[in-house]
Amino acid sequence: MAIPRIAVIGAGISGLSTANLLAQSAYKPQVTLIAENFSPNTTSDVAGASMWLAVEGSLATSGSRHKQWARTTYKYLYNLLASPLAGKLCISLVPYYEVFGDHDERSRGDPWWKNDVLGFRHVGEEEMRLLHYPVGKKCWSYSMLMMPCGPFLTWQMEQFKANGGVVVQRRLESLEEIDGTYDIIVNCTGLGSRQLVNDPEVYPIRGQAIVVKAPWVKHAFDYETKDNVLTYVYPRANDVILGGTADVGNWSTQVDPLVSKAIMERCCMYSPGLSTAEVVKEVVGLRPGRSTVRLEVDKVTLKKSTIVHNYGHGGQGVVFFRGCTLETVSLVEDCLDKKEFPSNAANCEACTNTSQVTKTCTFLIY
Ligand SMILES: Cc1cc2nc3c(=O)[nH]c(=O)nc-3n(C[C@H](O)[C@H](O)[C@H](O)COP(=O)(O)OP(=O)(O)OC[C@H]3O[C@@H](n4cnc5c(N)ncnc54)[C@H](O)[C@@H]3O)c2cc1C
Repeated sequence: MAIPRIAVIGAGISGLSTANLLAQSAYKPQVTLIAENFSPNTTSDVAGASMWLAVEGSLATSGSRHKQWARTTYKYLYNLLASPLAGKLCISLVPYYEVFGDHDERSRGDPWWKNDVLGFRHVGEEEMRLLHYPVGKKCWSYSMLMMPCGPFLTWQMEQFKANGGVVVQRRLESLEEIDGTYDIIVNCTGLGSRQLVNDPEVYPIRGQAIVVKAPWVKHAFDYETKDNVLTYVYPRANDVILGGTADVGNWSTQVDPLVSKAIMERCCMYSPGLSTAEVVKEVVGLRPGRSTVRLEVDKVTLKKSTIVHNYGHGGQGVVFFRGCTLETVSLVEDCLDKKEFPSNAANCEACTNTSQVTKTCTFLIY
């Protein structure tokens, strides 16, 4: 019986989680993960870890699919938070204050995800004063899921290898290089898609942040001014990440010391104790900006292989990853059906728990 051969390109959160789920597919494929960089050297490793959800207008997504992607990820992470894996994956739930001014679209009304987060409420002036937050601004508060990507990527890689996945460190200049070696190629190269699949719509949104030790900080804060100056303090399980920047079109991956100084000063304005925090490292990452996430089967396929894309998640790649992974796997399985590969879904040992979204049994894998 022919075994489907699948290559997933990219080992950030999109690629690794897609490769890992495919390795567990009922089609029993041979999955190869190909990437130039692996954790801790991907953009995903730099992500702040917050499950912050944008309001409608500022989403780099297609139609209303982003809601489903985010909701699926939330459910998945709540399950992990309540599982024995929470410690290994450093997932936590922290109080979060999101401050914004009248200019901000957030001031137009409550967000669509109001009921998807726990304990959403409006914060009054008295509480703002107590916390020394900018007076006269608006503020929401709720419990925020935090998940640094490093431990998650390590866990996914362990699972992927245990499920028979093959790992190849390689930079591809074009997908033609591997045309025909695989039945399906899944492109999860983030910003790399600009060159790899010649997509001029993909652009960098540079982010710089500082990781500090500040174990007394237990609540998160986020404030963006009218002129897009961003300040955030995100406590994670073992450190606190201070930010930030979002420079559209900036390709520099070098830490700018002046930017770090400005970030520290802004964060200390709202949380002065941070001035004594030990700096662990300064980080830079290029978010894969795009007007819409590209999650689809490529209509112009290669000569032999079929391409499925999952890239361009901007500043929300962590928030969307689980929903996007399930949808990508579902598209790949449809392609395998069309190529007449047999599925063992009916024989799945895990019984009746076959996912409604994919043919893969999600019962055993959280
Ligand atoms: C400072 C900062 C803070 C952020 N905070 C958050 C946050 O709090 N919440 C959130 O949801 N998102 C956040 N993001 C955004 C998030 O990091 C991205 O959306 C997400 O990491 C994208 O993941 P990805 O797997 O698609 O891409 P990446 O993590 O960039 O992975 C791309 C992979 O493709 C490989 N690749 C690329 N080109 C090639 C090629 N030609 N050949 C072979 N391999 C190739 C790379 O080596 C890498 O393995 C933040 C980003 C930054 C920079």
